[in-house]
Amino acid sequence: MDNESDADSDVCARCATASGTCCTLAPGNEEYCFPLSASERVRMEGAGAEALHFFRQANTAPFVDNLCRLFPGESETIRGLFPNGGEHDRLAIGAGGACLLLGPQGCLLPRDARPLYCRLFPFWMRSGRELYFQFDRCRAQQEAGGGGPGLMLRLGTSSAEIQTMYHELRRAWGLPEQT
Ligand code: SF4
Ligand code: SF4
Repeated sequence: MDNESDADSDVCARCATASGTCCTLAPGNEEYCFPLSASERVRMEGAGAEALHFFRQANTAPFVDNLCRLFPGESETIRGLFPNGGEHDRLAIGAGGACLLLGPQGCLLPRDARPLYCRLFPFWMRSGRELYFQFDRCRAQQEAGGGGPGLMLRLGTSSAEIQTMYHELRRAWGLPEQT
C-alpha cells in the first residue's frame, strides 16, 4: 500500500508534512467520524487496508445529529439508516487523533480507493449547489484564499467530479437519489 502513483495534488502532501490535515480529529471527537459503507470498505481493503484500519462505532446521538446537519431535511432517512442501538463502520483513529491510514506524506491509499467523504472533502453539496467547509488548517484553502475554482485546481478536482462523488456517496450510504 503506497501512494506514489497517486494523482494527488502536492498541497495535501505538504499539509500532511506540516501537521494537522483533514485526516486528524481532535481526540474525544472520534464518534463524529463519517460512516463507511460496505462498498467503500471493500474498495479500501482491495487497496491494502486491513481490519485494524476500521472501527465498529455505535450510532450515538451526537453522531446521528451531526449527520442530520450534513443532510438538512433528511433527518428521518438518516435516523432510519443509523438507528438508535445500531452500529456502523468508521475509520480507526490513533491516540493522537490521526486516521491510521495517514502516512507522513498523506493518505496511504490511492485516491480512488479512499472513503468517498475523504475524496470529496472539503467540498460538499446542498440543494444541488456546491459548497466547501471552511477549515483553518487546510493548506489548499490558505493558498487559494478560500474556495471556488482556485481551491478545486489546487486539489485536482472539478465541479463535475464533486457532483459525481457526492451522488456516489449518497448511493453508498443508502440515501435516495436527488432529482
Ligand atoms: S482514509 Fe486517507 S484520506 Fe481518509 S482520513 Fe484516512 S488518511 Fe485521510
Ligand atoms: S484537503 Fe486541505 S486539509 Fe485536507 S489534506 Fe488537503 S490541504 Fe490538508
